[in-house]
Amino acid sequence: MTALVIAEHDNASIKGATLNTVTAAAQCGGEVHVLVAGSNAAAAAQAAAQIAGVSKVLHADGASLAEGLAENLAAQVLAVAGDYSHILFPATASGKNVAPRVAAKLDVAQISDITKVDSADTFERPIYAGNAIATVQSTDAVKVITVRSTGFDAAAATGGSAAVESVAAAADSGKSSFVGREVTKSDRPELTAAKIIVSGGRALGSDEKFQEVLTPLADKLNAAIGASRAAVDAGYAPNDLQVGQTGKIVAPELYIALGISGAIQHLAGMKDSKVIVAVNKDPEAPIFSVADYGLVADLFTATPELVSKL
Ligand SMILES: Cc1cc2nc3c(=O)[nH]c(=O)nc-3n(C[C@H](O)[C@H](O)[C@H](O)COP(=O)(O)OP(=O)(O)OC[C@H]3O[C@@H](n4cnc5c(N)ncnc54)[C@H](O)[C@@H]3O)c2cc1C
Repeated sequence: MTALVIAEHDNASIKGATLNTVTAAAQCGGEVHVLVAGSNAAAAAQAAAQIAGVSKVLHADGASLAEGLAENLAAQVLAVAGDYSHILFPATASGKNVAPRVAAKLDVAQISDITKVDSADTFERPIYAGNAIATVQSTDAVKVITVRSTGFDAAAATGGSAAVESVAAAADSGKSSFVGREVTKSDRPELTAAKIIVSGGRALGSDEKFQEVLTPLADKLNAAIGASRAAVDAGYAPNDLQVGQTGKIVAPELYIALGISGAIQHLAGMKDSKVIVAVNKDPEAPIFSVADYGLVADLFTATPELVSKL
């Protein structure tokens, strides 16, 4: 029984969610291999070989794999799938784009968004925006799984010494081509990888106020900035900052919610944070039911005060 983790990487380094996926793969009970499919991705393959608990890295290198196109990456996974009992992807936009293609071609049911491995064929996953946990058992010969990274600790990025084996790159499917990419550049930590998140809600009232109130606190704490959907819908924050059921799932060491009511769809994205701090002027706000520290106050006075004391 061997599990294959499909690495997320930028051809030079391995992205964090891969490390959590390796932990989930190890819990499936057998060896853990990692597939690094990219272009000029030797550095990423070497980085994958350092991950603790990984016994082999498959390195597929070719122009068809340069941009992570789902059709080509799925073909690459299928080319090596025969050797594996479990194939695991991080439940990220990229993983969720490729895993269903692989599951469909293998004619197995995908097991999505797992947060716990009970045994090699039984897994737990949140349903109804995290209000219930489903235990799912699969009798399929191959388990194709997406892994919610907040459910598993990250494997150590160093300490391993896996062998790197080259495998032939899959041919270009010709079904899609890479046109361009617009990447947001920010000095802040990435939302899903941040240790601290400062998040703002509708109460901020405008784009200007959102920046004016949240930025000094986030700067002081070297935190990522998040937002509720109401704040995003109102245009106070860009879409990629949304935390929640239809946004990003996060579980930082510290989550500070400013002027966020705590609707279940928001809680679904952040309630696994280690420490939750909420500032809200309504003492009945549901966010206080999950907060470790709650301050009933006007955020426009409490936040600058907090910044001045840090
Ligand atoms: C299918 C579906 C998916 C959804 N997905 C998401 C999601 O991914 N993420 C998400 O966030 N939401 C999501 N929502 C929306 C969600 O239901 C809520 O509408 C949203 O989270 C509310 O955002 P909010 O807390 O910023 O705003 P509100 O609910 O309006 O809350 C604002 C809060 O600010 C407080 N406040 C006001 N002024 C101040 C002040 N000066 N100082 C301190 N506190 C103040 C108020 O007391 C209130 O509690 C989804 C909804 C649906 C139906």
